[in-house]
Amino acid sequence: MRVSAQYLEGVESWPITQGALEDAEADLVKKLKLLTESLGAHPAAAKPSAGCHTCAVRARCAAGWAVGEEAALVDGRGDAELVVQARAGDHGFFARSRTGAEIAVVYEAPVAKLLPEHVKGQVLRVLDGVWKETRTQLELKAWTQVFVVTREGDSDQTPG
Ligand code: SF4
Repeated sequence: MRVSAQYLEGVESWPITQGALEDAEADLVKKLKLLTESLGAHPAAAKPSAGCHTCAVRARCAAGWAVGEEAALVDGRGDAELVVQARAGDHGFFARSRTGAEIAVVYEAPVAKLLPEHVKGQVLRVLDGVWKETRTQLELKAWTQVFVVTREGDSDQTPG
């Protein structure tokens, strides 16, 4: 007895026993119940993993954001969750990072027009900014995405 996988470029086959197939079937029967329950849950439970940094909804997922922000730091990418502290002129504001560090957020005039209004206590998630001054300054570029998550103290109920 053999099982085969059909690929575009050909077929691969492996020997298999009747017992191994029955074990696989019994395993699937057990897993299907759990998987069906999991898929039926609304909102779906967040399951942070190493893949979070490429997830399209990461900015809206509190659990996955933390994992992805750490991966971005290692890669030198300017992703950061920030709590707005105070305006600093027309081209910047001060904020606190998740670790409590003070960050000067800066941007040029054309970018300022694209940004959501930011007020003290607002929590922002920034994707693809550019770190400067050994990560004490974060520049928002035209391609940077800025998500308003919530105000400090509000809960982030975003489903994962
Ligand atoms: S939804 Fe959240 S937990 Fe799931 S992969 Fe995306 S960022 Fe990670």
